[in-house]
Amino acid sequence: MTTSPRPKRPIVLCLSGHDPSGGAGLQADIETLHSNGLHACTIATALTVQNTQGVRSFRPADPSYFREQAECLLNDIRPDAVKIGMIGSAEMATVIADILQSLSNVPVVIDPVLGGNAGGSLSQENLLDVLRQQLLPRCTLLTPNTIELERVSGRQNTIDAMKELSLMGARQVLVTGGHLPGDEIVNSLWIEGSLVQEYRQQRLPGEFHGSGCTLASSCAAGLARGLSIAEAVEAGLRYTAHSISAAISVGKGQFLPWR
Ligand code: PLP
Repeated sequence: MTTSPRPKRPIVLCLSGHDPSGGAGLQADIETLHSNGLHACTIATALTVQNTQGVRSFRPADPSYFREQAECLLNDIRPDAVKIGMIGSAEMATVIADILQSLSNVPVVIDPVLGGNAGGSLSQENLLDVLRQQLLPRCTLLTPNTIELERVSGRQNTIDAMKELSLMGARQVLVTGGHLPGDEIVNSLWIEGSLVQEYRQQRLPGEFHGSGCTLASSCAAGLARGLSIAEAVEAGLRYTAHSISAAISVGKGQFLPWR
């Protein structure tokens, strides 16, 4: 019996945490990629205790078992892009940096998750140094919100922060402005420390859990398809805004983007 050839889909390797509410983390990645027509391969960086009202605690994955999962997977499958979300600990960041060495030329989107949208930490203190030194140099697109931007760069002023990130190796940065007050949300794309594009949109009423994950994954989807950074960012922002406008209510806290 002969088997007919099956279609292929672009593949994104997602390294993120698990959020039991289904709003953020790996589930956000899988839903975003699937609904954009891509396949997600996933390895969990951490488990979390949380609901739509906030994060209570988290446990990073066992670094050596995580490494084994990645080695086994990558022996078989070559992804078209990598999306990194919650990392959790410095040890996990080091293993991820090692894994990326075997994926040269594959675009890498990093959403530098440090805490939950509704409150609660998702990172150990020592993560930042390894993120800066070992992961930013390998990053194709960094997608911090304004709080993460300040913490990762160590600078309060946006221009200084962008220069600092560029020096650290993160040369393309999409900053999301959803945490700032105002009826209009301004997201901005920076390349080599300079502002290249601002994207403005009306703020929708309510708070949303997993919007950052949705954005980073949809940008990774565009890069996996071979889009330029600017095209991937535009498509990612459009998809994320759409999923937020269709958000659903599942608990007592934040709404979840419908992907
Ligand atoms: N990843 C995980 C596992 C999370 O639990 C969270 C937030 O709670 C995030 C990422 C970040 O979520 P958001 O996209 O809302 O910033």
